[in-house]
Amino acid sequence: MMRYYSYKSYLKHTYGRPIYRVGVDAGFSCPNRTSRTSGGCIYCDDFGGTAAYQRSREAVHAGGALQLEIKAENTPASFRLHEVSSQISAGRAFVQRRYGAEDVSLYLQSYSSTHAPIEELRALYDHALGCGKFTEFIVSTRPDCITPAVCTLLKEYRFRVSDVWVELGLQSANDQTLKYLNRGHTSAQVRDASMMLREAGMKLCIHLILGLPGEGLKELDETAEFIRELYPEAVKIHNLHICSGTELLDIYRCGETVTASVHRHIMQTQRLLKQLPGDIVIQRVVCDTPSHRLCAPRYFPSKGRAVKMLSEHLESQNSWQGKDLGWPLEQVGMPVPHLRRLYGAV
Ligand code: SF4
Repeated sequence: MMRYYSYKSYLKHTYGRPIYRVGVDAGFSCPNRTSRTSGGCIYCDDFGGTAAYQRSREAVHAGGALQLEIKAENTPASFRLHEVSSQISAGRAFVQRRYGAEDVSLYLQSYSSTHAPIEELRALYDHALGCGKFTEFIVSTRPDCITPAVCTLLKEYRFRVSDVWVELGLQSANDQTLKYLNRGHTSAQVRDASMMLREAGMKLCIHLILGLPGEGLKELDETAEFIRELYPEAVKIHNLHICSGTELLDIYRCGETVTASVHRHIMQTQRLLKQLPGDIVIQRVVCDTPSHRLCAPRYFPSKGRAVKMLSEHLESQNSWQGKDLGWPLEQVGMPVPHLRRLYGAV
């Protein structure tokens, strides 16, 4: 029996088969960083989020420093478009080779993929979506990079793919934590951006980090309450991980913060899941930062093993997504109309 609504189950329900993501670094920057290599959230390394098959682009350790073959800002547009095409070809070849995948979604994954003038965004999105057939179009960004014009543009792509998703980083609903992380936005900004996207018909995925510095169960419960209020179609749950070259690593080395063991992360994930409506897709439950960039936690099981441990823990505790809200176990992954109304979904 399904105890939480996994991404795999969502794809099976929606398309009857797995759909793989082709992640692309389209050369965006982030308004929260002074450049692609400095500033920003205290846990952000110089990669801003890259997919497994983009990691071949990371040079191996060289004198302790990592380098990524990445375009500088202000790169000529033609070169940028060419780069996007090559990443899509490489990504598609990778998922075909590894998973035998025929159907893929386009995922603009790195940095803030709506952070550019509208005409530049349009040219990039048109070009990327013109590089083949895609099931979904997924854009990862920040709440302060969502404007009415961006929503209007994204809305146009709903007719070219099955769904347009926007992934927004919240991480925590606690504004003090957001300030400490130097996120550069508040939870209210995430609420406003979510409403704009919802009105434009976008599907929404909210990113969370569990075990953030200074956070305990009270903050976790407040974040769960905030998520119920937003009622996104999906969330991604990450365990706090600390990468090389980040301010958070300095804080960690001073002993001012810790990272959760897999057991603690699983217990916190269970607590969160119990408080989330059972029809929110849980797209991720753990990070999978490549080991050469990850400083802590060093001893954490593989993603597959952690997912299995979570399922076993939910089973042993007779727990499931939405349990605290009265969501029936047999209806995890399905809407329960009166509960959806109760928690604000329309
Ligand atoms: S919003 Fe994302 S890309 Fe920007 S600084 Fe924070 S983690 Fe890095």
